[in-house]
Amino acid sequence: MERRIGGLETEFGLVCVRGDGTRALEPEAAARELFKPVVAKGRSSNVFLRNAARLYLDVGSHPEYATAECDDWWELVAQDRAGERLLAELMAQANARFAERGEDARIHLLKNNVDHEGNAFGSHENYLVDRRGEFTRLPRILLPFLVTRQIVTGAGGVVTEADGTSRFVFSRRSDHMFEAVSSATTRTRPLINTRDEPHGDPNRFRRLHVIVGDSTMSEVSTWLRFATTDLVLRLIESGRAADVPELEDTISSIRAVSRDLSGIEPLPLEGGRTASALQVQQRYLDLVAPLARPEEHEVLETWQRALDAVLTGDRSWASRTLDWAIKEKMVGQVAQRHALDLGDPRIERLDLAYHDIDPAQGLHASLQRRGLAPRVLADADVEAARTTAPTSTRAHLRGRFIAAAEDAGVDHVADWTTMRLVRQGAMPVSVMDPFATTSSQVDALIERVRAEGGGQGTNAAHPA
Ligand code: ATP
Ligand code: MG
Ligand code: MG
Repeated sequence: MERRIGGLETEFGLVCVRGDGTRALEPEAAARELFKPVVAKGRSSNVFLRNAARLYLDVGSHPEYATAECDDWWELVAQDRAGERLLAELMAQANARFAERGEDARIHLLKNNVDHEGNAFGSHENYLVDRRGEFTRLPRILLPFLVTRQIVTGAGGVVTEADGTSRFVFSRRSDHMFEAVSSATTRTRPLINTRDEPHGDPNRFRRLHVIVGDSTMSEVSTWLRFATTDLVLRLIESGRAADVPELEDTISSIRAVSRDLSGIEPLPLEGGRTASALQVQQRYLDLVAPLARPEEHEVLETWQRALDAVLTGDRSWASRTLDWAIKEKMVGQVAQRHALDLGDPRIERLDLAYHDIDPAQGLHASLQRRGLAPRVLADADVEAARTTAPTSTRAHLRGRFIAAAEDAGVDHVADWTTMRLVRQGAMPVSVMDPFATTSSQVDALIERVRAEGGGQGTNAAHPA
């Protein structure tokens, strides 16, 4: 696929605590408070926004933000970060309401992966793939890449082993994966979800749903997740992925890779040989290199630098750039300064604070301000992404429709493929091609919106 469309769904952890740190509200009640302005505006806790993203409360009261369809991975990072800001703003408003009412309660939203109760929060990558491809073979070729890419794009963290010892790992999520490929998302937690919901013309497209990734705070880590996976998908589509190594056991390998900070421990391969995580990643990188376009050389270079940081142990670049290495340094420093065991609850809190999306209190934001975490996107680009949809995909049409309807105060609903006005007999307009940026039907719908403007508009998504 020449141009690929992708989107990122992020589930946020939510806690609501008193000043003394004890729980003030159950997550469900806190989520309701958080979403009050959303529901007031859209009469639903499941809405599509002007930037064409979806914001909703998922089961278990987790706020989720799903970016609009992007075909540029820096744009995707901007859209993702725009979602953080939107939620941070809702959080600030909710906390101000608590204060006004004299309630001792404060919401924290965490773009984290696993909490202290062992809940895992999703960070789902969506990639458009061609229906004609051999989808049944695709996961097999992609899996060794996904198992080992945590040494580049993992969020890092501490796990406590059965014997009580604690250690730093590339990805805590690795211990929460139980199956390689499946069509269920929650119960069995596969690396790849094969549920067939293309959000597009089912004769032409499939949507690959990768659910093994860590929620990443570093702009570079998020960008690398999509940019490298896109290249590997291109490799698979090119038919040149024949000699990628095949792991004998996906689940035991993903746990072993997470724990091996040297990247060199051998993983058993089908056929009796072994390869290290570094070797597997290097193999993919070498295979995709000839397929990269000139503007993608930065992807190859950054990917190689990330592998070299593991290989050489020289973290000077990685510890300012990649989540796992930024966190490794931070955790190491704090543990040393206060003579803490890695299993100490203060280390766990530090990890959570890193994922706190509050711009004033979150550790990642503070590291960014001090130049200790990457800031690639201009502030203005992230700000613009809050209200502007990507212009090179179908999201552009949805964004125009929603903006017009909101501005005119006309009740409307949308989902990934359709949009319509809320009134009797209103026909939905479908856009089944995720690449479409023009549509006379959508133009006509927007004309109608403008002509009929005047009422109090709502912006709801179709009921799931
Ligand atoms: P749920 O999370 O409710 O189980 P879902 O997996 O369909 O459902 P959504 O939260 O609605 O997920 O998010 C869908 C994601 O897929 C969005 O980020 C969106 O940008 C992206 N997307 C939409 N259409 C396509 C497509 N045709 N190909 C790839 N990605 C797409
Ligand atoms: Mg979702
Ligand atoms: Mg999903």
